[in-house]
Amino acid sequence: MMIAMSLLLMVFCLSMKEAIRVQLFGTQRINKEGMLTIGGIDAKTLKERYGTPLYVMDETHIRNQCRYFKDNFSHERVRATVIYASKAFLTIAMCQLIEEEGLALDVVSGGELHTAKKAGFPMEYVYFHGNNKSPAEIDMALALGVGTLIVDNDDELTRIIRAISAEEQIDIMLRINPGIEAHTHEYIATTKNDSKFGLSIFDAATLKTIRRINDHPNLVFRGFHSHIGSQIFDSDSFIKHADTILEYIKKVTETTGITVDKMNLGGGFGVRYVEQDAPDVGHTILKRLLDAVDEKTAALGIDAPEVLIEPGRAITANAGITLYEVGGTKRTFGGKTYVFTDGSMADHLRTALYQAEYQGVLANRMHDKAENTYTVTGKACESGDIIIRHCELPTPEKGDLLAVLSTGAYHYSMASNYNRLTRPAVLFVKDGTANVVVRRETYEDLIRLDVPLR
Ligand SMILES: *Cc1c(COP(=O)(O)O)cnc(C)c1O
Repeated sequence: MMIAMSLLLMVFCLSMKEAIRVQLFGTQRINKEGMLTIGGIDAKTLKERYGTPLYVMDETHIRNQCRYFKDNFSHERVRATVIYASKAFLTIAMCQLIEEEGLALDVVSGGELHTAKKAGFPMEYVYFHGNNKSPAEIDMALALGVGTLIVDNDDELTRIIRAISAEEQIDIMLRINPGIEAHTHEYIATTKNDSKFGLSIFDAATLKTIRRINDHPNLVFRGFHSHIGSQIFDSDSFIKHADTILEYIKKVTETTGITVDKMNLGGGFGVRYVEQDAPDVGHTILKRLLDAVDEKTAALGIDAPEVLIEPGRAITANAGITLYEVGGTKRTFGGKTYVFTDGSMADHLRTALYQAEYQGVLANRMHDKAENTYTVTGKACESGDIIIRHCELPTPEKGDLLAVLSTGAYHYSMASNYNRLTRPAVLFVKDGTANVVVRRETYEDLIRLDVPLR
């Protein structure tokens, strides 16, 4: 109950003076001084102790999301597993948290796998994805004892068969393309699908690949994996997706006699970044999806496979904020007003990459009323260096703290050193305590791999 409460604790805070509506998540609060707090620590203290720009992750919120997914993705007749998609946010501490919460882990590269290994993550609960695993990555996965490889295509399968020794065995799932693409508001069923991932369920040759896996003595064919998109609001897309895969499973078993005991439906559970976003608050889809699988398998007359899902964003996005210091404002001749921060697109890429939208607040002046609309930018030498395109704020002063909310997924993991900017530190905050889980980069870190000419 507590868990459900805190998931739903997304308070609409009305500022005292004027309707600046800010939606807070998890342990985010506003204290008496009008300061944003997270994990029981106020923004000014975080700035003084750890500097800016700074990624601050609400550990309680991440754990609650893990528990919520685990608790709600369960069914009396259908086996269900939650895997965290590590590309959203991965560090050694995060792997350890995921292990403590009892989720499995998705990785898509040797680097993510190495992180999991260094964290001591149990390898049997690792699922290794990706459309072009190198021979070295395949060797690494086999040597470490990764639980499941998700094969994307025949070339990859050939590489795995070459790499595996006679004494080894590994579980294999096949990435398939169900011809469904979900976008935020709807799914599109396409017969001709050009995704780079997986093999089409409409292609007869896919059955050959399934047979090839199943017939190999060292490969254990477990089932199918597919993923229909990210930031999905229309949760019926997931049910449509499951139905499509189950129909395909029935067809495969009927034509080949091969049994399929796992169905991985991927991630994509939408979250709220700004007020207009309308995700499935409370992720009611989790229970509905398993009910739908139960019904559909009964209707098809097949055994229900174990159902796996891979949330990434839904676990971490709302748990994170980025704290910046304001350097000043600039009104252009054209009439736009910028707020300059000490961050940039190097630590906040999604706005430049996808025109993503965010809430921004002055974290030290949460009670002040909004006076103007600003474009929040940073220090990078690009006119596309935009953090928030339209942000309602009180008039920012030099030294104010600007917090961008819901930056816990695809921020640290997408950060770069463009312009030789150093990447921010990452903190886990919880019950008034902050732990550095990634140290701030130094200038020395930046040149660590450089080889001088002389
Ligand atoms: C990106 C991805 C995920 C996670 O997506 P979210 O939108 O973060 O939930 C899960 N599975 C696969 C295969 C992915 O590519």
